[in-house]
Amino acid sequence: MKILKNIKDLKKAISKISNLGFVPTMGGLHKGHISLIKLSKKKCNKTLVSIYVNPIQFNRISDFRNYPRNLNNDIKILKKHKVDFLFIPHTKEILKNKNKKIVIKNKDKILCAIHRKGHFEGVLEIMNRFVKIIFPKYIFLGEKDYQQYFLIKKYFKKRFKNTRIYLSKTIRDKNLIALSTRNMLLNKKKLRIASNIVKILIKFKKDISKNNNKILDIKSLKKELSKKFDIKIDYLEIRNKYNLSLNIKKNSYKVFIAYYLGQIRMIDNF
Ligand code: AMP
Repeated sequence: MKILKNIKDLKKAISKISNLGFVPTMGGLHKGHISLIKLSKKKCNKTLVSIYVNPIQFNRISDFRNYPRNLNNDIKILKKHKVDFLFIPHTKEILKNKNKKIVIKNKDKILCAIHRKGHFEGVLEIMNRFVKIIFPKYIFLGEKDYQQYFLIKKYFKKRFKNTRIYLSKTIRDKNLIALSTRNMLLNKKKLRIASNIVKILIKFKKDISKNNNKILDIKSLKKELSKKFDIKIDYLEIRNKYNLSLNIKKNSYKVFIAYYLGQIRMIDNF
C-alpha cells in the first residue's frame, strides 16, 4: 500500500489509473468502512482510501478534539485488506486555497442540515477538493449517513460527470447498532439504550408498512423515546427516500433519527 501525504505525490501515484475507487473516511476504521473498501475492490482496478478528520465539518470544537483517532491501527487494517493507496492530507495543504463556497439550498436545510449548522457545507467543501484532485470513477459512501450521500450526489452531479456515487448498506453490530467510530465513546449503558432505540424504530417501520396510518404516530413516538430513555432528540422524521421531502409514498420512505447519548450525537435511518 502506498501512503501519500501530499497532493503532488498522490496525483503522480494515481495519474495512470482509469478505474479508481475512492473511499473517503475520517479513520477509526470499523467493519462499516471495510464493507465500502470491499465493494470498491470488487468494482474497481485500484482502491484509494482517505483518512482525514475534516475540521470544517464539526460545529463543536470539543467534538472535533474528542473524535477517536488511531492511525497506526487503521494502516494495519488497510494493509490487511490490500488497499492500494492511502491519502492522509495535511490541513495546511488541503484547505490552503479559498474556493467559492458550495451553498446548500434552503430546500435542503432539513434534518442534520438544520441541527448541525455548517456541517454539510464543510463535508461538501472537502469532498469537492478531494474529487477535484482524485477524479475517481466511483465514490463509495455508506447508507448510515444517508443525507450526506443524498447531498453529495445532488451537488456533484453536474460538477463531476464522470464520477459515480455508490451507496453501500449500513453494517450493524450484533445488537443492531450501526457501527460508527463514535461508538467507542459510549459506555455499556449508553450502548444498551442505542440498541433498544434501533429495535423500537425497526419495529415502528414494520408497523407502518402494514398500516400507513401509523405514520401519524411519529410525533408521539418521539416524545415517548425522549421520556423513556431521557435523551435529547434532534429529530425523528419520516421522509421520502428519493428526494427527502415529506411527500411520502408507499415503500419509498425512510425513518431518520438524530439524538444525543450524553455528549455523543447518534444518527441512523431505517
Ligand atoms: P466516517 O469515517 O464516519 O466519515 O465514514 C466514512 C464512510 O463510511 C461514510 O461514507 C460513511 O457513511 C460510511 N460508514 C460509516 N459507518 C458505516 C456503517 N456502519 N455501515 C456502512 N457504512 C458506514
